[in-house]
Amino acid sequence: MALVRPRFSKTELTDINERLEAVTTKDVLNWVELTFGRSAAQISSFGLEDQALFHIYWTVTKDARLITLDTLRLPTETYSLFDQTKLRYGVDVEFFYPQLNSVSEMVKEHGNNLFYKGRYNRELCCGVRKVEPLGRALSDLGAWITGLRRDQGMDRGSINIVEWDQAHNNYKVNPLANWKFDEVRDFIDANDIPYNELHDKGYPSLGCAPCTRAITPGEDIRAGRWWWETDSNAKECGIHIVEPAKR
Ligand code: SF4
Repeated sequence: MALVRPRFSKTELTDINERLEAVTTKDVLNWVELTFGRSAAQISSFGLEDQALFHIYWTVTKDARLITLDTLRLPTETYSLFDQTKLRYGVDVEFFYPQLNSVSEMVKEHGNNLFYKGRYNRELCCGVRKVEPLGRALSDLGAWITGLRRDQGMDRGSINIVEWDQAHNNYKVNPLANWKFDEVRDFIDANDIPYNELHDKGYPSLGCAPCTRAITPGEDIRAGRWWWETDSNAKECGIHIVEPAKR
């Protein structure tokens, strides 16, 4: 596959963002398709936003690429959703797995459930099971598409639709940046899009089974992630915490 890595100047990127802020999500994905073609891919955790986003991407191009990181610790419901999504869209989901020798060494030294034993251990596990596989997945891409929304809080409040991702030497595209949670939910329902049944059981944000719990009404939507950690700034796994340089 020909790798397309266009580089925009800071001024060009500002212009692109101004233009894309004024168009529909489908138009944003059309721009991605025209600009990057098959060197773009959606990196999906199969959460609600990702399911809504892939539905739109698939309407833009039936060649839409869908990549996910299987940490080998996901809930059963998420594995079921992988299969439902493949059936619905006929998409060949690209799975990236942790390196088994790294998992083996980590577990041997720290135990299977090391993440409960402090933030260092939790970040070690996320590094082995998520961050390293993500780096492998992104190394071949000109652009990665995410389901991030600005109203998810933390660093996400300041995301642009298109950002230069210095860490991964490619572009990061956030077509749902302006969406609200209720819009995502309504879009899923209106289009009968398959979604993770755990969302109906109090799980607005989904990740690995041992590190995700249901939340109660009024709690922050990320409160169910690594709930035993008290630092609210720690509610990221390392995939989205690198602030991309705005080129
Ligand atoms: S979310 Fe939990 S199980 Fe999953 S990679 Fe991070 S620490 Fe490991």
